[in-house]
Amino acid sequence: MRYKSTRDMYSKEVDFSNAVLRGLALDKGLYEPVEIPHLDIKNPSFLDMDYIELSYDILSKFISDFEKEDIKKAVESSYGQGFGEKILDVVNIKEGIYSLELFHGKTSAFKDMALSLLPHLIVNAKKKRQVTSETLILTATSGDTGKAALEAFKDVDGIKIIVFYPVDGVSEIQKRQMVTQEGNNTYVIGIEGNFDDAQRGVKEIFADDEIKGLFEKKNIELSSANSINIGRFLPQIIYYVYSYLELVRRKDISIGEKVNYIVPTGNFGNILACYYAKLMGLPVGEIVCASNENKVLVDFLNSGKYDTRREFKKTNSPSMDILVSSNVERFLSNIFKDPVRVKSLMEKLADEGWYEIDSKLVKNEMGSYFTNEEEVRKSIREAYENYGYLMDTHTAVAYDAYKKSGFSSGEKSVVVSTASPFKFVKDVLKSIGEYEDGMDEFECLDKLSKVSGLQIPNGIAGLESKEIRHQSVCRPGDMKEMIKTIMSV
Ligand SMILES: *Cc1c(COP(=O)(O)O)cnc(C)c1O
Repeated sequence: MRYKSTRDMYSKEVDFSNAVLRGLALDKGLYEPVEIPHLDIKNPSFLDMDYIELSYDILSKFISDFEKEDIKKAVESSYGQGFGEKILDVVNIKEGIYSLELFHGKTSAFKDMALSLLPHLIVNAKKKRQVTSETLILTATSGDTGKAALEAFKDVDGIKIIVFYPVDGVSEIQKRQMVTQEGNNTYVIGIEGNFDDAQRGVKEIFADDEIKGLFEKKNIELSSANSINIGRFLPQIIYYVYSYLELVRRKDISIGEKVNYIVPTGNFGNILACYYAKLMGLPVGEIVCASNENKVLVDFLNSGKYDTRREFKKTNSPSMDILVSSNVERFLSNIFKDPVRVKSLMEKLADEGWYEIDSKLVKNEMGSYFTNEEEVRKSIREAYENYGYLMDTHTAVAYDAYKKSGFSSGEKSVVVSTASPFKFVKDVLKSIGEYEDGMDEFECLDKLSKVSGLQIPNGIAGLESKEIRHQSVCRPGDMKEMIKTIMSV
């Protein structure tokens, strides 16, 4: 399996190791496989596979330059005992609708699913290519990627990680998780700006000639833990396949029956993985893109016009407060199969903040709905009161989109649940009417645990007493200097 950049006109294909180490292609495009492998879902052996075996099977289709044994070891170390409380769960909310809980990893966000694997892929790729340089993982986060990446890369030899987060754009629990991060190779910096500022800054550093020169001299290589990195994107395909098989195993569906997936979307990575699973042959019915009030994607999927020239809103689902969704580029590449076109659209987006394509090209690919903050609270309350199911604010965006989609209860639909309700505890507590004035986040945790009967996840429970180790804050324009200081170049 070879990889190419979405903007590459000269067919400069690379192998997986190269793609994963670079993160972003040299032409600023994103790496994608030259072809999408087929999955024979009706093969009965799939039904006997646990998550580790399925991961091995699917990843082997995408990674042909690693030893088989190394892929096996990588998935075993990622999804074995140390992963978290469990790998995932498929919970029946009511007839015809399921919650695919992806938040049982160490940091209580679905990003643990892919980020636990990424360090193993990078270490293997370095070994494979006999790279002796130090790797710097540079990451922008809307709250969850940062913590999951820090935890995954903590104390990994030959790697340093720097995370930039919007200083006022994450929940208190998310911030605490990051600023208390341990490890001798981890750096956390607040940005006086929003996620888009942080993501733009990181992308600029990847393309910066001065940084390139300085790093070459010091034998440092840059890579990324954001879903622009193909090694971060691919492992997300697995949980769609696994959850489908799980419904078959429970005899809730017969093999081949279509299942709808509703995905709360920010950077378009998770939903694109679902789209890939469908292209591989998984019987996915409709894919629904669920946005909060930063509904650039919903407008795009309806009208063909991607337009970021609008106000950025801070919402109660902050991990989806994004206007420039990087992975749309891979989506476009799959639709057009024309790197010249993709390159010119992406350049127009960078220069003018918008582009437009024929709406017919995207309208049929996915459904899309957006949800405001009041609807988020209503959805949380409704699911909790009617079905005894507690969900976080991001999952509630997807649950609301499910309701708006008008699927019948005869169809099976899966709402993708991306974070633990304890991570956005204040908003969840307010939604179910249990918040009392003046409660801080830690009192909220205890209260939510008491009223719901659910346990506070391990990684969140001890946060209050943990030492704060990272206090730096900078303006977006100063990111480069911060990096130079940390790396002593
Ligand atoms: C990152 C994140 C999302 C959005 O996922 P994308 O792959 O960026 O679309 C949704 N919910 C939560 C809780 C997240 O952390």
